[in-house]
This record gives sequence, C-alpha cells and structure tokens, in this order.
Amino acid sequence: MHPCPLLRCAPVLALLLLGPLAPGVFARSSPLAGAVDWGWLRACDGVLSRSQFVELLDGMYAPGGAAAGCVEVGERTVRIRTGDDTWAEVAFASEGAPTRPPARFWRPSAEMGAATAERPLKGVRVAIDPGHLGGDWAKMEGRFFKMGRGRPVQEGDLTLAVAKKLKPQLEKLGAEVQLLRTSSRPVTPERPKTLRGPATAELKGSPTPERVQTQSELFFYRISEIRARAQQVNQRWKPDVVLCLHFNAEEWGEPEHPQLQPRNHLHALVNGCYGAKELDWDDVRSEMLAQLFERTTAEALPLTEAVVGALAEETGLPPFTYFSSNARRVGGSAYVYARNLLANRLYRAPVVFLEPYVMNSEPVWKRVQMGDYAGEKIIDGVPRKSLINEYASGVTEGLARYYRRARVKS
Ligand SMILES: [Zn+2]
Repeated sequence: MHPCPLLRCAPVLALLLLGPLAPGVFARSSPLAGAVDWGWLRACDGVLSRSQFVELLDGMYAPGGAAAGCVEVGERTVRIRTGDDTWAEVAFASEGAPTRPPARFWRPSAEMGAATAERPLKGVRVAIDPGHLGGDWAKMEGRFFKMGRGRPVQEGDLTLAVAKKLKPQLEKLGAEVQLLRTSSRPVTPERPKTLRGPATAELKGSPTPERVQTQSELFFYRISEIRARAQQVNQRWKPDVVLCLHFNAEEWGEPEHPQLQPRNHLHALVNGCYGAKELDWDDVRSEMLAQLFERTTAEALPLTEAVVGALAEETGLPPFTYFSSNARRVGGSAYVYARNLLANRLYRAPVVFLEPYVMNSEPVWKRVQMGDYAGEKIIDGVPRKSLINEYASGVTEGLARYYRRARVKS
C-alpha cells in the first residue's frame, strides 16, 4: 500500500480527477499513437476489488513492480498517472462484495448461452488476423527466405492460407467469422513514403536517407498496419475473440542463402508482462489498464490454453522456452506466455496469438515445399496433413473444445 494522504480521504465509488480527462500529452505517446483519451476510466469504479486488481497487475501485467511510479495502489482506490503531471483515481469494489460488470463489447463464453455439441461456436464472433502482409511486401517485412530454386517461404502468405481454411471450418461450428485481410493488400492507407515525416522525427539529428527509408518501412508494416487492423477490430467487427495467426522462425541469415535450423516448436501468447519503459508511454499504460479492467485475461488465458493444447496434439510440437525478460510463463500450460505485443495490446478483445512451427527448420521447410494438399501424405514415415490443414485443424479443434466445455449442457 502506498501511504498517500490524498487516498485516505478519497470518496469511494467516485472517480476523483486530479487532472483533466482531456487527451494526454502527445510527447508521451509511443510512435504513431497520437493523443490518449483516458475517458474510459470513468466506467471503472467498482469493477475490481483491491485484491483482484493487485493480482492482475503483479501476476499478469506488470510483474516485478514495473508499474511503480505510474500506478499507485491505495487501500480503497488506485491512482493512475494519465500524463506528465496529471493523475486519475479509480475506486475499488469492497472485498467480497459484488463487482460492477466492466464496459466491453466482447462476451465471455459464460455469457453466451447454451449451444449444441455440433455447433458449439453458435453466434461467437471471431476475427482472424493473418499475421504480416506477404506477397510483394514479404521481403520488406523480413518474413521471406528462399533455398536455391525452391518455393519461397513467406510468412504472410502462409498465415493467409491458414485463415482461409479456418473460416469455413469455424462457420460450420456456428461462428460468425471475419478476416482482417483477405489478400496481401495492406489495411492501412499509409505507405513508407507517407511516413517519412514521423520516421525522420523518430531518428532525431540528421539521419541518412537509408535510415529514414528503413524506419519508414518499419513504421508502415510493423505499426501503422497493426493500428489499422486494431481499428477494424475495435470499431467495426467488435469480435468475442481474435485469432492472430503466425509462424515462428529462428535466425536464417541471408534471405537468399538461408540456414535451416534443427529446432521446431510451438507457443502462444496472451497480453501481459509489460516493462517499466513501456509503461512510461501514456498510450501503452492506458491500453494495459483497459485490458486489466476489462478482465480480458480471464477469457483469453483459458481460451489460449485450449487452442494451443489442441494444436500441440495435432502438430506434436514441443513448447518453445523464452529466456528473455519480456515474456513470462502464465497459467497451467507449458506453451503459454504473457508478452506485450502491439496486436494483443491494441485489440480490445481476448486474443489468441499463435506461434507454431519454425519456418526455417528442415521439416517445416520441406512441408512448405510440398504445398497444400487434401488428405495425408507420408512424411519421414508418418502420415501427415498438409502444413496449412494441420494448423487449421488444431485451431478449430481447440475452439470447439473450449466452447463445448462452456456452452454444451450434458
Ligand atoms: Zn509472425
């Protein structure tokens, strides 16, 4: 507890504003984020008890005191820094008393009503985000490599192929499915050349034209594109779950002369594990707290565990292990980590972020060369589906299991 005298006299169940709820200070926003509107905090009084808030903050979102200095937990309220010199205060619900439902557009499975075993996803709104762009953009994105005369491996094309397989499979189970992209055409209207201004500002001093170009490209595919998809998710589709599809890779060196790696593995990510430097940005802090108050983890974690569990069975892949401090094992599955990524932070819904297969491992590269096919083919003595079908089957099975468990009355 922070011994802040202001908190002791704060009125319970009222948001005491110590500063304006006007947009935050621009200079404190991360690149391309713009001003921050903290107005959503007004709906958070009484949504969490103190112990619920602390458990989520310390256990999932800001471990190791990463939020110290910008989130001050008192006895009955929490103070949140909203700008350089501005703070807001949110009241906790009393311990053991009923909490107010959070304001959110997505529905947890427990609130969806009953469904049949054949259509366990009836009415579930699913957005599928095929990671990256692929096509002509794959080289710029650094998600491209090619072995000799072989078929090029482009992550954005592989994820789109899986997304297109998944859509009808999930619809058959009753889901309403939207793809965030259906081709390699970017969702963002920006292009590297329109982002030269912010790129130059980011680099400071007098950067070379090459550095400005590289930074503009990064802003385009890594930030602007994901922000545009987030707008689709949050303002247009308002899904109950977002599936972020990716393929993993190990260092491959020169894209035209890559090294194949021996390791092949699987993991999945839920939003969390923010660092102190990230939380210094007003927009990042606001987005983390929005996830926390919306109780997104309570749905995202078991959903991710179900999907990655089925995917592990389908693929036979072992779990990947992080040794860096930007990710942390959470929940009951060896495959699930908390990590703060732009997509799983900006999408205001439970996100299942999947990282199966090492694209530049010998077996996966071989299977990419085989292309997509129906049924099974013998690979190294074992009958296997195509890579695309195997990925889609695992995800479909995981979602079916999760919603059956929650919605089908026995
Ligand atoms: Zn990826």
